[in-house]
Amino acid sequence: QKFKAGLEKTRNSFTSKVNDLVARYRKVDEDFFEELEELLLQADVGFETVMELMDKLRFEVQRKNIKDTNGIQAIISEKLVEIYEQGEEDLVTLNMQPAGELTVILFVGVNGVGKTTTIGKLAHRLKSEGKTVMLAAGDTFRAGAIDQLQVWGDRVGCEVIKQSEGSDPAAVMYDAIRAAKNRKADVLICDTAGRLQNKVNLMNELEKVHRVISREIPDAPHEVLLALDATTGQNALVQAQTFKEATNVSGIVLTKLDGTAKGGIVLAIRNKLHIPVKFVGLGEKMDDLQPFDAERYVYGLFA
Ligand code: GDP
Repeated sequence: QKFKAGLEKTRNSFTSKVNDLVARYRKVDEDFFEELEELLLQADVGFETVMELMDKLRFEVQRKNIKDTNGIQAIISEKLVEIYEQGEEDLVTLNMQPAGELTVILFVGVNGVGKTTTIGKLAHRLKSEGKTVMLAAGDTFRAGAIDQLQVWGDRVGCEVIKQSEGSDPAAVMYDAIRAAKNRKADVLICDTAGRLQNKVNLMNELEKVHRVISREIPDAPHEVLLALDATTGQNALVQAQTFKEATNVSGIVLTKLDGTAKGGIVLAIRNKLHIPVKFVGLGEKMDDLQPFDAERYVYGLFA
């Protein structure tokens, strides 16, 4: 139960407080709702999402004529899943091309969020499904980024296409696509530079990389995954907004969910950005990347 283990911090703070609250109140009244609201806000669920959840809870409590807090956790879980899914759960799986065709996945995100680690983990995951995976070292800006990707490439056992530091990332992508096609690879995962200091540069660079990729393969990149660090809380939302404006983000990978007691950020991201969280990082090791599943997440919190 990786999910459950990875959510331990959030469970230890948020869930145990909810359980305390339930034990303390027994009766469902306005004071109970107010304290619950406060706990949800502390867990970084985000103001709007909390308000939506509270509305749903109040409605359900009234409809079912619920008087005491016994079993209220089950209703909270159910409503959290409902808010998360909003009928879009099918988006969670990766948009993979049919066998024999190259799938290109572009990774974007700010330095330090765990982008390189996530690329390594995803490569490992796809390889263990029997796919041939190659990596493109498109972060030519940050010192050490290329070497770090190579380390993951060696660890996982996949070829890394790279040039020297400071070279044009679009040229790296061009080489990488050619190489991946030649080797008949199934998946090419592309790293990109993650500086946010200059939004115009970021946009220009991502646009150029995007253009080069889609010139070689018309509907590629098939996924643009944004890596966000769960421990940065609401700040992750601000980053997401910037990247959303700079490029066509198709999914989010929320890293370091194991490192935060505020795992509610998953819900805030989903509700505010309307971009599905496709994977979550639950540790530093190769197999600590899990496809996101709202039910497993919510029940992992309350189980
Ligand atoms: P990048 O600069 O975005 O490429 O970030 P890195 O991949 O170098 O990761 C930064 C740090 O975060 C490293 O120490 C990673 O081991 C760590 N890290 C990445 N993902 C996770 C995760 O899901 N959980 C934990 N606990 N640490 C992670």
